[in-house]
Amino acid sequence: MTVPFVDLKPQYQSIKDEIDAAIRSVVESAWFVGGPELAAFEEEFAAYCETSHAVGVGNGTDALELALEALGVGPGDEVITQANTFIATASAIVRVGAKPVFVDNDPDTYVINPDLIEQAITPQTKAIIPVHLYGQPADMNPINEIAKRHNLFVVEDAAQAHGARYDGKRVGSLGDIACFSFYPGKNLGAYGDGGAITSNDAGLMERIAQLREHGRTTKYEHAVVGKNSRLDAIQAAVLRVKLRHLDTWSEQRQQAAKWYTARLADSPVKTPLIRAGSTHVFHLFVIETDDRDGLAEGLKEAGVATGIHYPLPLHLQPALAHLNISGRALPHCETGAHRILSLPMFPELSLQQVEHVVDAIDMVTRKSTLTAAE
Ligand SMILES: *Cc1c(COP(=O)(O)O)cnc(C)c1O
Repeated sequence: MTVPFVDLKPQYQSIKDEIDAAIRSVVESAWFVGGPELAAFEEEFAAYCETSHAVGVGNGTDALELALEALGVGPGDEVITQANTFIATASAIVRVGAKPVFVDNDPDTYVINPDLIEQAITPQTKAIIPVHLYGQPADMNPINEIAKRHNLFVVEDAAQAHGARYDGKRVGSLGDIACFSFYPGKNLGAYGDGGAITSNDAGLMERIAQLREHGRTTKYEHAVVGKNSRLDAIQAAVLRVKLRHLDTWSEQRQQAAKWYTARLADSPVKTPLIRAGSTHVFHLFVIETDDRDGLAEGLKEAGVATGIHYPLPLHLQPALAHLNISGRALPHCETGAHRILSLPMFPELSLQQVEHVVDAIDMVTRKSTLTAAE
């Protein structure tokens, strides 16, 4: 048996008729950019996230850049975030001209540690970007309190956590503004690139709708210098179909996570912790182990694909090193980078596949325990 890290094909097969009809209807209408599919998706996604507004954009990275730009974050400003995340969280900050300031993560939930945020605030700090990493919401109540006290914006990076809840509220509705990615492998994935921004601030969202569309006010008048970052109609149509299934798929991910957690209870690997009061939608199922590279190699031999999210923390990335942002100690981030391993996770993952992965983990870890004892 082989177990892929992610397999997008069974999901298409399960909703093929709906998807094919939705795509055909866009092609027949020949309304490929903007139009009724985009408007309908924006309305449905806002309702799903329990916000008043959603704006579709080209991808999750543009969502972050546009959100920061619309908030007025730019040169001379600092934005606090974590270093154990995808590069886009920080590259968006750099691309609007601001400086990322990294704060260490909580070692058990991997999201930013709110207790360390206040000491990183300077007169230049403008915003905080908590990342709902792996599908678990950041600890938003203390983050929002700190932001309020210091007059900072809170921009959720929700690219990995569509549908997760914190204190009963959906991610996307927890800060001033939130950014989503619909990259195909994300929990809500398009059939190409896509992204969205959600917020309850109508004025802010109007600015973003303008910025993503050439800064346009009318067909031939441009109020500001914007960009072209649109969610096209085929992607919107696909996402409308998939949004109707998202909660079921999240439950299937949670079921797979329960199988893994129960069956790995006696294993030496550390399984994910779900914070009380939050739901975790398991974009990734990340375990920790002493000999990460050995385990990954052993699993590969057993036909199990794995990933590492992420092996090189952002403050150590060549692209960011020149910004001199590696001053702050990030011990949990750096230790985690050597210990974390992402196991196969997607809604259609079967119990048999989970058992194969767990058996392979047992075999590899038992072998290494025996070797250590020799
Ligand atoms: C995927 C991702 C992004 C970027 O989204 P794209 O659509 O690939 O541009 C940003 N932040 C995080 C945490 C992500 O996982």
